[in-house]
Amino acid sequence: MIHLASKNRYDKMTYNRCGRSGIKLSALSLGLWHNFGSVDVYDTAKDILFHAFDNGITHYDLANNYGPEPGSAEETFGKVLHRHLKNYRDEMVISTKAGYYMWPGPYGEWGSKKYLVSSLDQSLKRMNLEYVDIFYHHRPDPDTPLEETMTALDQIVRQGKALYIGLSNYSASQMQKAESMLRELGTPCLIHQPRYNMFDRWVEDGLLEVLDKRGVGCIPFSPLAQGLLTDRYLKEIPADSRMAKEHGFLQENAFTDVRKKAIVQLNELALKRGQSLAQMAIAWLLKDKRITSVLIGASSVEQLYNNLGALGNLHFSVEELQHMEIILKPTSK
Ligand code: NDP
Repeated sequence: MIHLASKNRYDKMTYNRCGRSGIKLSALSLGLWHNFGSVDVYDTAKDILFHAFDNGITHYDLANNYGPEPGSAEETFGKVLHRHLKNYRDEMVISTKAGYYMWPGPYGEWGSKKYLVSSLDQSLKRMNLEYVDIFYHHRPDPDTPLEETMTALDQIVRQGKALYIGLSNYSASQMQKAESMLRELGTPCLIHQPRYNMFDRWVEDGLLEVLDKRGVGCIPFSPLAQGLLTDRYLKEIPADSRMAKEHGFLQENAFTDVRKKAIVQLNELALKRGQSLAQMAIAWLLKDKRITSVLIGASSVEQLYNNLGALGNLHFSVEELQHMEIILKPTSK
């Protein structure tokens, strides 16, 4: 049955321009790395997508390998889209990526033209789409000439299989080279997708500056450090959490004593601000105007609503920011 989307879906969301491009993205985007695979509950995945769309989230982020099984998140998304949301395709920005291991042999990962072109063709089939809005190279490839990877991305856009190009996990200097090449080819890089959260701030050492200067958008992934920067891990590891799941990418070694202490202190500060810790973690990223959108994950509709609530307070006082720096300092070592 076709989902009748809320008439008010654009009322509360903020839309930020992506770098110096023509496209705006919702301040929150939804990622399908976890919770949308063949091991997950289809109805929950579907509900999260409905509620995200009904609340103004226009951007949905996938990759060839999301699942598990790898590829199954794209299948789930394709099913929900075609069964229930197909009238709204033009209101959505759908992205996918290639770069990590997807199939055996020398052509199933990294950055060759052979891999990128075949992987995107597979993704389009799994999602039953003619094109994606953004196609990303998922990680830099130390062995393939950058020219080959960038030419493949340019060709993909010229063939109409993607409207825009994104890069993910590229360092500041890799980004400078890649951005120049893409611009010269006539397909400017739309967006960069780095890991960025209060526990992982590598982008502050140059990348954000490069993106800003060159007019490339920035969409941080794992803004909640995969769930650590929420009130879920205040005491112990919850049985239904990503860290407890066999296929989850969050390992117990990320839950260090130093982080445990910081999580408790950050949670107290968030409550004083009238926010949940998750909301504060998202707001902390969005306070920087160089951030186009924050790419969240959610395992339930409740978590999604909680995260949407972050938009209610994006302002931090100088004292709050200073306090946060003191709390976070031991976690940066
Ligand atoms: P987050 O840091 O937002 O972590 C999401 C997890 O946090 C959820 O699954 C849930 O954990 C928990 N959570 C979310 N909201 C709340 C809340 N309000 N209260 C309590 N717990 C909450 O992001 P992800 O790590 O999932 O990454 C987001 C997206 O980024 C991915 O889906 C993917 O699209 C992209 N990504 C890109 C990568 C790249 O290399 N380009 C790499 C990784 C991700 P639980 O399941 O335990 O309930």
